[in-house]
Amino acid sequence: RNARDILKNELREVLAKGAASLADGTQPDPIVKRPDFGSLEVYYQTIHRAENGYRASGAEALVRWRHSQRGLLTPASFIPVAEEGGLIDALGFWVLREACTAARNWPENSFVAVNVSPSQLRRPNFAEEVFTVLQETGLAPSRLELELTESSLIEDNSDVYTVLKSLRGRGVQISLDDFGTGYSCLSHLMRFDIDRIKIDRSFVSLLGTKANGAAIIGAIVALSRNLGISTTAEGVETEYQRDFLTALGCTDLQGYYFSRPAPLRELDCFRQPEDATGPRTIAPRAIA
Ligand code: C2E
Ligand code: MG
Ligand code: MG
Ligand code: MG
Repeated sequence: RNARDILKNELREVLAKGAASLADGTQPDPIVKRPDFGSLEVYYQTIHRAENGYRASGAEALVRWRHSQRGLLTPASFIPVAEEGGLIDALGFWVLREACTAARNWPENSFVAVNVSPSQLRRPNFAEEVFTVLQETGLAPSRLELELTESSLIEDNSDVYTVLKSLRGRGVQISLDDFGTGYSCLSHLMRFDIDRIKIDRSFVSLLGTKANGAAIIGAIVALSRNLGISTTAEGVETEYQRDFLTALGCTDLQGYYFSRPAPLRELDCFRQPEDATGPRTIAPRAIA
């Protein structure tokens, strides 16, 4: 057996154990049915609004696996394994549940962004499943943003179209992740109503080094503006990039310059007064 198979079986075990603990009633929170996947953890990276002095307006949920032998694994090492092993739907819904439960305690105007794999989106009941999670966690639909990749939309699938329409109809926000790396096809933007484009960090990293970085980002932002779509720049690492992207008209920024992905307990800017251990703040505070 190769390393991939071993990892796949281990992940399967983690998920099965969590599901079993839910079924046998040992879970502490029966209303919000969240299985405890033990070694799986959700990290959050804040997203900052340019026009608001770079205050955190939301955060993206990014899954981690605290592996007993291999240490903290990032998604690149196990999401493909989960997809291959048919485990991504269970994993994805767990992340969604965790994220909605967390965001319920954040300031009212903030949002949480959750990555959705193509396989999840292909589920005919995906929209209803998302609504159920929203209902059970009590999070307003408008505070959830689902991040899709272009590959989810590439197959000409009318079911996906219907699912997205139904989600948006209830106010769930839809964003297109890693924009520009896939089959960026303008027809997608026309056919699917999308609220936000996330400009891939490979373009952001060109700023200040190659002239065409600014040209590409400028074009994406101009197009988005005309379509009434927000833009988040990913992978912002320097003040120079922050200022450049703001000048180009990006509405939101995300990257190590502002914050690294961190466990929920370290997400100071969204901490509520009742669980604050440090200074008490209700409104998200500017980090920059
Ligand atoms: P993504 O959705 O594009 O997430 C952004 C990735 O860029 C994250 O990597 C984040 O840690 C990283 N990043 C953020 N700011 C910077 C920066 O300034 N510089 C650099 N170099 N990197 C930055 P991460 O957490 O390793 O996640 C990788 C990918 O895994 C995500 O890319 C997403 O596609 C996928 N992923 C993460 N969580 C989930 C999940 O729950 N479900 C699914 N289906 N996919 C997930
Ligand atoms: Mg993402
Ligand atoms: Mg992205
Ligand atoms: Mg990316």
